Amino acid sequence: MESKELVKELERQVKQSISKLEKERSINKKEKILVALSGGKDSATTAYLLKKLGYNIEGFHINLGIGKYSQECLEKIKELCDFIGIKLHVHDMQQKTGTSMCYLRSNIQSSKGKNSGLKNCAICGVIKKWIFNTEGKKLDAKKIATGHNLDDEAQTYLMNIFKGSPQLSSNLGPVSKNVQEARGKFIPRIKPLFFVPEEMIREYTKILEIPVNYDPCPCSFDSYRIQVRKFLSKMPDTDKRNIIKNFDKVSGKLNKIKDTNLSYCENCGEPCRGKTCKKCQLLDLKS
Ligand code: AMP
Ligand code: ZN
Repeated sequence: MESKELVKELERQVKQSISKLEKERSINKKEKILVALSGGKDSATTAYLLKKLGYNIEGFHINLGIGKYSQECLEKIKELCDFIGIKLHVHDMQQKTGTSMCYLRSNIQSSKGKNSGLKNCAICGVIKKWIFNTEGKKLDAKKIATGHNLDDEAQTYLMNIFKGSPQLSSNLGPVSKNVQEARGKFIPRIKPLFFVPEEMIREYTKILEIPVNYDPCPCSFDSYRIQVRKFLSKMPDTDKRNIIKNFDKVSGKLNKIKDTNLSYCENCGEPCRGKTCKKCQLLDLKS
């Protein structure tokens, strides 16, 4: 595809997703949206386009303290926020908790507890989501936008099937579906790039010279996702879209299968299922 055409096509796809979110009243131009910025191409494109389309966005970055990689991500994010003219909030894990993600993770993995077998990305994902929600509430954000793209989502759906837990996909979609249940304690997450293929986003950022760190996270080497990504990378984008569309059709039923008893963590007060939230379970925090 020609550069001009690719830019037009990507923007058309994102506008289409966003106008659907507008119709469902999942997004509007007045409320504050925090864009979770990793430093990578997907979240940079999300921020760039939401700003271009006139949304009230601010950037939010968690500095995970992963050495040079985290430093480079932060530099690119500062550049990006200057470039598009938005405010940036940085949550520095080391400053806030005294530990980096690497340290926290190796502590969990070297413990003899039930979480010791968890992969790097699984641990990091739980902690990041907890921080998004707790810090997002402090910043009075009404939505959190992430850069998840078509490839990410198709991978997640398949991974949940391979794990034998399709019900884990019931909250997936361009907007998180557990919104009402959490009665204001859970900031809904939106994914404007939900239907956009990863390669297209990479090209888009290169053509428009959007500040991005293209290096992968050095800790994602053992991820199960990498195996699923390899498998899916051989498939055309239409197949990836079909995986998602199929799930969309059955997601109502999956919601019924899932235990819907939402409660609040006895330790930190965050929405969860069971007595404590996933983050407190990971850190073995007792109520
Ligand atoms: P990942 O968990 O790395 O697959 O990233 C998924 C999405 O989460 C990204 O597109 C970002 O929107 C967000 N994200 C990932 N890492 C960070 C981070 N360190 N700080 C803020 N947002 C992040
Ligand atoms: Zn908790």
